Amino acid sequence: MNTDELLSRWQSVKTHIEQTARTYQRNPDAIHLLAVSKLHPSDAIAALTQVGQLAFGENYVQEMLDKANTLKSLAIAWHFIGPLQSNKCKEVATTADMMHSLDRIKLVEPLSCYRPASMPPLKVLLQVNIDDEQSKSGVKGFAELLALAQAVLVQENLTLSGLMTIPAPSTDLNAQRKPFAQLRQLRDQLEQTLGMALPELSMGMSADLEAAIAEGATIVRVGTDIFGQRAVKNK
Ligand SMILES: *Cc1c(COP(=O)(O)O)cnc(C)c1O
Repeated sequence: MNTDELLSRWQSVKTHIEQTARTYQRNPDAIHLLAVSKLHPSDAIAALTQVGQLAFGENYVQEMLDKANTLKSLAIAWHFIGPLQSNKCKEVATTADMMHSLDRIKLVEPLSCYRPASMPPLKVLLQVNIDDEQSKSGVKGFAELLALAQAVLVQENLTLSGLMTIPAPSTDLNAQRKPFAQLRQLRDQLEQTLGMALPELSMGMSADLEAAIAEGATIVRVGTDIFGQRAVKNK
């Protein structure tokens, strides 16, 4: 894809977010676009920074490190959104601005310990398996969510910012809204129990953006609608 096309696709996504926010009586400035750049080249990321897109989401640790190194002169905030192996906590802790996919207690201490003192605390979102799918990561149910939240709260170098989910795909707007509403309710319940604000709801991708905005998303993670189709990851 050439740069003009990339920038015009990005602008369309921005406009769509703003219009959808207005449709649902939400402040467009309260919805942040995370550009999911996994499996797309650093050049495309650099081009988007020129128009003010500075938050990028990556799923694979090594790919995020390589891109962060290539683009280190740019003020990019890297968001890690993929499944994390416990032996890769250090890389995420030293590179990312926000970790969206925290799904188990085992990762909490290493993420905090490896966070350099020279950086602000790593913002973390707890990933919830909202549809109870066997194949998906994420905590299931409120008790598990609360235990993970409490584990994060005792760590000095982590800030608990909110929740994230990836629902089972659906093409119907009302069906898409249901799991996002459930995530918001879980967030509200967790806020009440902990007596603290958890402002971020990371939900909504290219195919279910409207539903997520309707239900309160504060971060939408958009890949395909900006960058086009991805190559298939070969392991
Ligand atoms: C790949 C990915 C996205 C982006 O998905 P698109 O359908 O390309 O917009 C968002 N969130 C997560 C967790 C992803 O892995």
